[in-house]
Amino acid sequence: MNMRENDRAAWLYGPSAKCRAALTSKPTRWRIVLLGPPGVGKGTQAAFLTEQLGACHLSTGDVFRAARSQRDKTPSPAMAAALDYMSRGHLVPDEIVWQMVCERIGCLRCNGGFVLDGFPRTLAQADSLRKLMEKEQLRLDAVVNYVLPPAEIVARLSGRRTCDKCKAIFHVTSQAPKQQSICDHCGGRLYQREDDHPESIAVRLDAYEKSTAPLIQFYRNRGLLVTVVATGSPAEIFQRTTMALQARRESGQQVGPETYVQQ
Ligand code: AMP
Repeated sequence: MNMRENDRAAWLYGPSAKCRAALTSKPTRWRIVLLGPPGVGKGTQAAFLTEQLGACHLSTGDVFRAARSQRDKTPSPAMAAALDYMSRGHLVPDEIVWQMVCERIGCLRCNGGFVLDGFPRTLAQADSLRKLMEKEQLRLDAVVNYVLPPAEIVARLSGRRTCDKCKAIFHVTSQAPKQQSICDHCGGRLYQREDDHPESIAVRLDAYEKSTAPLIQFYRNRGLLVTVVATGSPAEIFQRTTMALQARRESGQQVGPETYVQQ
């Protein structure tokens, strides 16, 4: 059994892993969903946000990648099917994603709040989340929608490199590591994700348009949408994100008009 006490990434290691951070309660707790096309920088922003807010960072993509990297274990038939969809750039079927999220329901209940990154990605997933949160009497505080022109998305995805140890993200031109293919932070090996290859990028962008983009209206209708322009450096995008969230909280907004933050 893989027990990692006091580890905010415990949910990555499966339902048996424990996270004791759930015992602390923060007055500034946030429950947030990050929306936006692949490559817009949700993972980087989620890492900044969870660091600042002390919330759980739940990335369904990271769960699938963690399952794939456990070479010593044979994945369950459902997980093996999920990994096959993922490597081709397709969305994993809703039932498998939902089963995985339900296994980690403790993270959604966490008193420190959560940042959902890459989930929900379809209307069915958003509806399942809505029902579950209603049942648990939990309220979503905001949905941050990152926007970026398509050409820039493709450039970001095709140049993205990820550390195989600490998961830090680099870019071959705009955020190059000091030493080629070596992580600046931990010395791990930088690799290109299988689904960042050109043929998979096209499939992923198509899946985003068809299945995920409708969530923008879904959350706009619920007064939860905060739109942030994702151009510039990760630090600039983060500053825009925190400004938008702060403005939302200061205005006491739970249900209200959309917030739009540019430069
Ligand atoms: P990400 O790291 O969020 O870009 O996710 C990588 C891949 O994992 C996606 O392209 C999908 O194949 C799969 N995936 C992650 N989250 C979901 C989800 N909520 N629904 C369906 N597929 C997902």
